[in-house]
Amino acid sequence: MSKNECIFCKIVIGKIPCKKIYEDDSVIAFLDIRPVSDGHTLVVPKAHFERLHQCPPEVLGSIGACVAKIAQAVVGAVGGGGYNVLCNNGRVAGQLVDHVHFHIIPRNEGDEVFTRWPAYEYEQGRADELAVKISENL
Ligand code: 5GP
Ligand code: ZN
Repeated sequence: MSKNECIFCKIVIGKIPCKKIYEDDSVIAFLDIRPVSDGHTLVVPKAHFERLHQCPPEVLGSIGACVAKIAQAVVGAVGGGGYNVLCNNGRVAGQLVDHVHFHIIPRNEGDEVFTRWPAYEYEQGRADELAVKISENL
């Protein structure tokens, strides 16, 4: 998706309206148009990067600080018992808008927002193999 066609770039420049919560020189935050819980918020860098690993450190730094601050405000406002921070990267991971963003999703007891987390155990040796392979890829 090019920058010109990007929904979030259009929100950044005010071409598409949003329910804005916060804005500074590098970050904007607004309510998700299709929330999974009341107060579901998106925190978005103003510069267009498709995936998290493509963002330079200064962008990651400012967005990280904003996520923490906005999460506190969101959860304080809606009275949630907790929250999830989610950053989908790639279509297989559920990313639909190719402009990196963090979801802040307020959670309440029994809300069933995420009901299934398909955890399993590694077979013998697999965790060692993966830890080495990943660290060598840094
Ligand atoms: P993703 O699946 O890419 O992690 O999440 C994209 C999110 O953007 C979705 O939760 C979707 O509801 C939200 N979204 C898509 N288009 C718009 C829009 O035009 N305005 C707002 N506020 N949210 C949007
Ligand atoms: Zn964009």
